[in-house]
Amino acid sequence: MTPSVIVGEDTMSTHPISRPTPEYVKEELYRRFSRRGLRRQRLRRWVRGLSWVLVVQLLSGTKRIMDMLLAMSGLIILSPLLMVSLVLLASHLIALERRPRVGRWCQTFDEYRFTLPDTTWGRLLKLVRFHRLPVLLNILKGDMSFVGPRPVSPGALSPRERAVRKRYDVRPGLVCLWWIRRRANIDYGTEIEADGEYVETQSVLGDLGIALRAIPAILYGEGVATAPDLVTILNIPIDNVTMAEAIEIIMNLLDSQHGHQICFVNADCANIAYRDEEYLHILRRADYVFADGIGLKLAGKLLGQEIKQNVNGTDLFPRLCQALADTGKSVFLLGARPGIAERVRDWIAQYAPGVRVVGTQHGYFSREEEAAIINRIANSQADLLLVALGAPRQDKWIHRHLHETGVKVAMGVGGLFDFYSGRIPRAPLWMREMGLEWLYRFIQEPRRMWKRYFVGNAVFLFRVIKERFTNSTIRTGEWRETMPR
Ligand code: UDP
Repeated sequence: MTPSVIVGEDTMSTHPISRPTPEYVKEELYRRFSRRGLRRQRLRRWVRGLSWVLVVQLLSGTKRIMDMLLAMSGLIILSPLLMVSLVLLASHLIALERRPRVGRWCQTFDEYRFTLPDTTWGRLLKLVRFHRLPVLLNILKGDMSFVGPRPVSPGALSPRERAVRKRYDVRPGLVCLWWIRRRANIDYGTEIEADGEYVETQSVLGDLGIALRAIPAILYGEGVATAPDLVTILNIPIDNVTMAEAIEIIMNLLDSQHGHQICFVNADCANIAYRDEEYLHILRRADYVFADGIGLKLAGKLLGQEIKQNVNGTDLFPRLCQALADTGKSVFLLGARPGIAERVRDWIAQYAPGVRVVGTQHGYFSREEEAAIINRIANSQADLLLVALGAPRQDKWIHRHLHETGVKVAMGVGGLFDFYSGRIPRAPLWMREMGLEWLYRFIQEPRRMWKRYFVGNAVFLFRVIKERFTNSTIRTGEWRETMPR
């Protein structure tokens, strides 16, 4: 029964005023406190719980059927290979290895793989992932799935921790969000977080998306355990750090006595530096240069100098804001169209209220106005200066005026203000996971970007390959030590 509506008692209000009738109150008391009412409530809860279980089962059932069909088709298609492996097994040239793993609901199972000999043909087979072929049996048996969190050894990740427990709600798999993000160099969080995100948002379509995103990720390859701290790509020295290390570096620099310049370098910047000697010189003299984008990851791979993570300004910015909050450090925002820096200031106020923004200035100023702007920055006593004038202008501007501004750290951040002001939407995460952020930017501004991306990316890769084979400019670190920081 619904409460009756008494209209017009409040003459100031145009809305009807609701007041529960005695019948309504009686019904409510009965529903909440009588034995029958409570039983009915319990039943309703059961039905709700059961329908949730049914939905989950239906979803995992669909996934299971798809896994089985795909594994079966895989085994049929690869049956000639299976025959060969049977012969190799029988002649003891290879062996079937069983690795204990923790599966769904923490049940242990054996993950199968071939042990290959350490010979040329063994290494060749390993390169084409032949040793992973028996995993199809695990999928067929239901131990594993194509998409799911990485299978781990017993004791590696304790389900006692609440965050970890979630990952054991589903079957482990061959590929998952973390697997893709590691290969796209955007593995900023932790594996547990990524697994939790997968379990919470799991769907059949989502799995299909992950499987598709895994295709380019195979090309990008996995990172290596030991990556050099400094790599050189097309003569540009790059500080090979993770996102967390970059934040730590910046926070430490903010406590220092004099100004520092930080640059972000992507494939386009490397192309500009190739023809612009002044810019190249600035990059070589900068205090820190971070690797931005999938192009640099590929270049590092081609040159045998693995890039640890994609440290771009846009992903770094919110993390830096969090680190800056309540430290008392202040920020000045310079660049982009009029009104944009102010919108970024509003974004910061919402996202990290503890960050002090002490000034904003658009980036379309004349030479005559420059002195006054530098004065304003100096008078604001900002610790950090973000300059969004586009490369190479922003880096040249910082190089020229860093010491006049009095800031401790100045970085060129390109289109960052446009993203955080909401003027230009950023590529969705799934596109970034595929290393296709550049394609998204091209779609937004095809006239301006077509040359930068379609010609520029090809030219960049060509130059890197040339460098790889001529070995002309691969120098790691030695010259940097001679440069003053
Ligand atoms: N910009 C500016 N003043 C200028 C030219 C550009 O403030 O004279 C701004 C522009 O509005 C944009 C940013 O600089 O916000 C450059 O964006 P772009 O995407 O070209 O930079 P990238 O990230 O590619 O270096």
